[in-house]
Amino acid sequence: MTRLVQLGVPVVAENAVPEDGPMTDGFGRRIEYLRISVTDKCNLRCVYCMPEEGLPWLRREQLLSYEEIGEVVRVMAGLGLRRVRITGGEPLVRRDLPTLVRILRDVPGIDDIALSTNAVLLGEQAGELRAAGLDRVNVSLDSLIPERIDAISRRAGSAAAIMGGIAAAERAGFFPLKVNCVVMRGRNDDEVEAFAAVTRERPWHVRFIEVMPTGDNLGVSHDEYVSSDEILGRVARIGDLRPVAGPHGNGPAKYYAFDGAAGTVGVISPMSHNYCGTCNRMRLTADGQLRPCLFGDLHTDLRSPLRTGAPLEPLIRQTLRIKPERHWLVQGSDVGSGGLRALSQVGG
Ligand code: SAM
Ligand code: SF4
Repeated sequence: MTRLVQLGVPVVAENAVPEDGPMTDGFGRRIEYLRISVTDKCNLRCVYCMPEEGLPWLRREQLLSYEEIGEVVRVMAGLGLRRVRITGGEPLVRRDLPTLVRILRDVPGIDDIALSTNAVLLGEQAGELRAAGLDRVNVSLDSLIPERIDAISRRAGSAAAIMGGIAAAERAGFFPLKVNCVVMRGRNDDEVEAFAAVTRERPWHVRFIEVMPTGDNLGVSHDEYVSSDEILGRVARIGDLRPVAGPHGNGPAKYYAFDGAAGTVGVISPMSHNYCGTCNRMRLTADGQLRPCLFGDLHTDLRSPLRTGAPLEPLIRQTLRIKPERHWLVQGSDVGSGGLRALSQVGG
């Protein structure tokens, strides 16, 4: 069933889309990238993402199996999908993730498989994931100071595991390593220059992310939001930046580099510089909802048709028809979030 009512914003109309050929939405955007959430659970509780407790978890039978995820990707690859990212919740808490990587690796047309992780379990899994065919890893790292990492993630001891995980990823040959940092005033904004300085020596692509509002983080998103313009202003205090092409994997980030630096500095500005006009993606939630946008409540159920053997392509085209032109988020408010409590529920 497709719901056409979006909470807090006007009803979103269906738009005409091509009935065959590569996936294109009603605004002419080609969709070639799918973010796949494999779980809504996480071993951390980052202050900007999840509440400490109280989120309802999906039941095991609600989760798509790896084979079912593979089937969705196979059908979408036939319609022009080229890149996938495995995310969560924390994807590495789901058992035997390399099996999913192997399934995705075998899908003709998929030429890039990436993972977003908090790195806590990467130390023990990086080598096997690499051997299974994973191409790239993005790691969340919100501070360079261990006590702050533990505080922001609300889990004592996470800093040591994360640093070990990042080292293991580098040893396993994951390149480029993208490091995502959500900047929050009073918690880590004084580390922007230090993070940027790391890119002079290490081939990290550090991406500073503006915090986005969800139902459960309104305090943080209202009081601690820092714009990407302010972030770039701070980076410029320690050296001249020039715009550069980003590393492999086009996305919403804008990249810059210091002269002679090994890595780059990127900013992702969902709030201050809306980049919806170039959106190339859809999302598959852990329970099999195909979402045309991270925010809002628009989704199409693929789990039931997968389990009854009904064709998926008409449902995928229907989801393209309802893909909205843009998100309607308002900083510090849950307007436009469609009732979403935490990004961990849909994959971030
Ligand atoms: N657990 C994995 C991780 O942390 O990388 C994958 C899931 S997480 C939801 C994906 C990304 O969303 C992370 O980079 C995280 O920092 C980001 N994120 C989560 N909540 C956010 C929010 N409210 N605003 C901006 N980014 C957020
Ligand atoms: Fe977990 Fe990632 Fe959300 Fe942090 S950002 S709570 S690691 S899902």
